[in-house]
Amino acid sequence: MAVAATGVEERLLIGGEWVEASSGNRFDVIDPGTGELVGSVPDAGETDVRAAIDAAAAALEGWKALPALHRARILRRAADLIRERRDMIALVMTSEQGKPLAEAAGEVEYAASFFEWFAGEAERVYGQIVPPMNPANRVLVLRQPVGVTAAITPWNFPAAMMTRKLGPAMAAGCTSIVKPASATPLTAALILRAIEDAGTPPGVVNLITSRSAGMVAQELFSDRRVRKISFTGSTEVGKDLIRASADQVKRLSLELGGHAPYLIFDDADLDEAVDGLIASKFRNAGQTCVCANRTYVQSGVYDAVVAKLAAKVTKMVVGHGIRDDVTIGPLIDGRAVDKADEHVRDAVAKGARLVVGGERLDSGEHAGGSFYTPTVLEGVTPEMLISTEETFGPVAGITRFETEEEAIRVANDTVYGLAAYFHTRDYARLLRVAEKLEYGIVGANSGIISAANAPFGGVKESGYGREGGAVGIDEYVDVKYVLVGGVGT
Ligand code: NAP
Repeated sequence: MAVAATGVEERLLIGGEWVEASSGNRFDVIDPGTGELVGSVPDAGETDVRAAIDAAAAALEGWKALPALHRARILRRAADLIRERRDMIALVMTSEQGKPLAEAAGEVEYAASFFEWFAGEAERVYGQIVPPMNPANRVLVLRQPVGVTAAITPWNFPAAMMTRKLGPAMAAGCTSIVKPASATPLTAALILRAIEDAGTPPGVVNLITSRSAGMVAQELFSDRRVRKISFTGSTEVGKDLIRASADQVKRLSLELGGHAPYLIFDDADLDEAVDGLIASKFRNAGQTCVCANRTYVQSGVYDAVVAKLAAKVTKMVVGHGIRDDVTIGPLIDGRAVDKADEHVRDAVAKGARLVVGGERLDSGEHAGGSFYTPTVLEGVTPEMLISTEETFGPVAGITRFETEEEAIRVANDTVYGLAAYFHTRDYARLLRVAEKLEYGIVGANSGIISAANAPFGGVKESGYGREGGAVGIDEYVDVKYVLVGGVGT
């Protein structure tokens, strides 16, 4: 069995130097599978954030003046280095975040894929020459980097949520300050080391680790040189950032919470549907923004789906992600366990049937960690917490439906709009339902939807802006129109 990482000491990256916080303060990073120390990072203060903004501003002109081909080469090299270091980064990720090692290695590959994808896009930031209304004029449309940008990222995908922002920022010619979640700063530092080792000039990317996220945000929002902030995290914090952006009309991209519905119609391939549901619901112990939070199954196959799902969930192995046989790692912390348990207790109290799971695991090999058994509830109704709030844990709640109209209505009955899924073998229904779901991302006959080449993002209170895909770079580009008069015909 592998041994979890310990004693990992990282620093801030400011202007190409790996440095301590000016206060000298550090904070600990804890293994959610054991409660033990993994390592520590500097606890940056205002002075450090300002120094990082200074460094990003100083590096901007040189970086955006480089030919796109040159920036693309650096991104490709960074992707190669991340892949070469995959096992080491995955070990650190599992140790600080908890996900099973195989999932962590998969995330590292996924993280590298954003650099490869945006290396290609760097070379395709085309402008336009538009036919003029007045034949003596010329009309040019330029696409230019927005300038200094900042990325605030969550702990659930500590590598990929960062590269999904840094890839397009670097490709477009922007410089950046990154503030990773305080639970998972070590993975972030390893990704930045790969970017630096790929030959990125000093100051193009800067790392600020801090326990004072509000202070970091305040510094970033109040500095006019920071032109854009990209945030992935909770809807609650996202709304605060929208308010904070008003003063300087700062550009924002927001990837916020989800509350994904998973619909299984009578005509679905049931094995494929249950496998898709498991991939969507239980990956990363249910701590993904796109994971199924509400499962709606049509009457004719309801009992069969519950039975198939329960049979598979019973076989899941809960433990430290470092163990080869583990499929469900710990949740990020005790509060996450409390929330999952609250959703289960609330559902049972209101009449749901607990089919599998519903237990905290805190003794024996699980002592010190934040573990919860993978859980299936059936007979879930709209007034239960699990039907209205993001659970962010390994709990699948199942509700019966009768008609297609009813399924679409309940699926759309939420303030969130990130991802939705459904299974059917009827092609006409497939197109109808895909069009009617009010979500930024729809998985039809698949529970896995994320990929670097596709635009990822939500509608409604799940945020705005898109990451990945051909449009991902638009978030880091300003469009400028130039009218040249008096040219003649
Ligand atoms: P969170 O509490 O909002 O934290 C996300 C990031 O924001 C962290 O770096 C955090 O720093 C920072 N932060 C916290 N308070 C802040 C403030 N007042 N101002 C500025 N930054 C602040 O979210 P989380 O619990 O880590 O992540 C889970 C949420 O993210 C879920 O709702 C999930 O659905 C969402 N998510 C969305 C996507 C997507 O693409 N739509 C992807 C992944 C996750 P600290 O860690 O230091 O508190």
